[in-house]
Amino acid sequence: MDSMKLLRTLLFVFTLFWLTGCVAGVAPNTPASTTPPNVTRTPTTTDTPTLTATITHTPTITATPTITLTSTITTTPTITPTPTMISGPAPTLAAIDTAFITNGDREQALVALTFDICESETVPSGYDAAIEAALVELEAPATFFISGHWMTHNVETVRRLANNPLFEVGNHSWSHPDFRELDAVQLDSQIVQANDIFYQLTSQQMQYFRLPGGTYYPWILDAVAEHGMSTIQWDVVIADSVPDNDAENINRIVQERVQNGSIIIMHANGRGWHTAEALPDMISWLREQGYTLVTISDLLDVGK
Ligand SMILES: [Zn+2]
Repeated sequence: MDSMKLLRTLLFVFTLFWLTGCVAGVAPNTPASTTPPNVTRTPTTTDTPTLTATITHTPTITATPTITLTSTITTTPTITPTPTMISGPAPTLAAIDTAFITNGDREQALVALTFDICESETVPSGYDAAIEAALVELEAPATFFISGHWMTHNVETVRRLANNPLFEVGNHSWSHPDFRELDAVQLDSQIVQANDIFYQLTSQQMQYFRLPGGTYYPWILDAVAEHGMSTIQWDVVIADSVPDNDAENINRIVQERVQNGSIIIMHANGRGWHTAEALPDMISWLREQGYTLVTISDLLDVGK
């Protein structure tokens, strides 16, 4: 029991001692010191933020980007002056006696290949360039009868044909109407308009006329002659506007019907379906038979 007393006593003493010490240390409103806190901390430059980061890697452009041209304009577009036109109408040709010609001299072994390029104002026509190419390759003269309306949008072709000594260009009306349905004023207009555009494009004059569809009344032939032009019909029809009339059949027709002075009518307006295909054999055969191919002018000039 004594030890318990002693332990209690010690605990009491210890607690008392501890409490005394604590009260003295944390007594409220008892300043720990009467002197103001000594602020000794002065700002130093170390507080100034310093940029310590350095750019250690400046990006370098190792390759300058190159612009690869994916398409190059190799030719500067040229604007072809649409027609370097001669202004004004074609000079008037002196009237001639009415001339309706279906063939040349039957005593001369001459044949004229003729190609119509017909076009109305509402139905455009194409151009069968393979015909021209075959004629040029085989050096075969020919005559093209062209509607004036077609000339307005085939300027370069018209000029090329007009300027090639192998070829001759004739009038095939302005817009290919049936001439039997026209009055005299309309008829004159059809002829004159075509003459004017050809003259304006080429500075040349046409002297031969081909009837649209070949249809006419006698007074129409007289009216054509009043414009100083001969009407050029034909004596060999190969019917090349019939789609299934193939090249072999075309040449069979030519071989059966051609004779001295013949004028063969064909089409170069894209509706002479097998004409270009038939031409090489046709020209070869005609030459083998002893015929010379000529323009209408040369066919009619013989014997003059
Ligand atoms: Zn025609």
